[in-house]
Amino acid sequence: MRVVYEFPRIPALKEVIIAVTNNGKDIECEVSGPNAEQIAPTIMAYFSSFNKIPPLVIHEGRNWYSLYWPPVPSEAHARFVEGFWRTWFFGQPTPNVVTLAITERCQCRCFHCSANVGSTLDPPQLTVEEVAKIIQESVELGVANVIFTGGEPLLHENIIECIGTVPFDKAICQVFTNGIALDLKRAASLKSAGVSSVKVSLDSPEPEGHDRLRGRKGTFSCVERAVKCALDAGLLVGLSTYAGNEFVTKEYLRRIAEVAAKWGVHEVTVFDAIATGRLMGSQGICLTPHNRQLLLEQGREVNREYGVSPRVITQSWTNSDGKFAKYIGCLAGTSQFHVTATGEFTPCDFTPLTFGNTLMTPVQALWQKLIAHPAYREHCQACRMQSPAFREQYVDAIPIGATLPYPVEFLHSEEIAALT
Ligand code: SF4
Ligand code: SF4
Repeated sequence: MRVVYEFPRIPALKEVIIAVTNNGKDIECEVSGPNAEQIAPTIMAYFSSFNKIPPLVIHEGRNWYSLYWPPVPSEAHARFVEGFWRTWFFGQPTPNVVTLAITERCQCRCFHCSANVGSTLDPPQLTVEEVAKIIQESVELGVANVIFTGGEPLLHENIIECIGTVPFDKAICQVFTNGIALDLKRAASLKSAGVSSVKVSLDSPEPEGHDRLRGRKGTFSCVERAVKCALDAGLLVGLSTYAGNEFVTKEYLRRIAEVAAKWGVHEVTVFDAIATGRLMGSQGICLTPHNRQLLLEQGREVNREYGVSPRVITQSWTNSDGKFAKYIGCLAGTSQFHVTATGEFTPCDFTPLTFGNTLMTPVQALWQKLIAHPAYREHCQACRMQSPAFREQYVDAIPIGATLPYPVEFLHSEEIAALT
């Protein structure tokens, strides 16, 4: 498999052509164009670094290193690399990922729900036309991975039409689901629509524990069935979970990895428990520094044991100052943004602040507003939503009872008015 990578949005590389080949064993690249001799060593070092990481899976001549990254080589990966280089080496933050909550409908009432679904009798959802607008503008901005979330995205009656608006020559598409509605027929329809992977939520390795946290009996067995159906349909499959202090002290990661390996899951993502949504005000659930270190060690042990299938990614690692993790950190305003089921543009799905509505304002303008904001214009290695200083200024300042997400420009408006 050979794909030519071009970088039209990086002036210094505008006429450089990079041919990336997957020869079935290694990733190779050839560089041509102006100044090829000077820049080739750096570019070749970048691409050869992939050869140090075993792929999760090789599919149709392309290596998948994570379910979040487009496969190598591919046109979507070329765009992903362009965005990454623009962000980190050319001072132009470019989003690679949009998470899009297409509906707030959901069958669960999870203890930790960041979307706080169930708070209205008539849950909002985006129309196919609205989804198409948001995706088109997001992809024009640089997005190479469109992630459908919710609520439960499979409850959107037109989800297949929504997926059909993703330009698959430019971006991959993932669906995050609680698994309840993911049977074989639905999995096959997602696969034929172009979805590359599903991420199914699993809060606990214990069936009763998972059902209790989801507020609904039988959800653990739904997760097991959903994973099987998705794999049978040819989708790549991940599990997503979240870590609070008990998760670490009870060593749930090891046990979830065992379950994932038994089921044939490719990747496990461990988000941090964050005091937002239904957990707003419950800062005690956040990882202590000691437990964060333990979780990092548990993640390393599991990855040493399994290598791939499953590979574990923890938010504690992406927010650390580890070797490659320093190019990740807090994704908000660096490489990702979120759109709610009412079209609000937020820094991420855990941050209850809106920078405007995508149904009224172009996504590009809202991204520029985000990256120019004092809270987001500098890269932040750690999670902003777990930073006491950030919370004091931008979360605790939200008036009690206000509708969320709260317009960022309304924060401190009374104090500003008093000063002017
Ligand atoms: S966390 Fe997900 S599955 Fe649970 S209530 Fe919220 S949207 Fe539904
Ligand atoms: S604030 Fe940053 S690190 Fe924290 S959840 Fe949002 S994007 Fe992730």
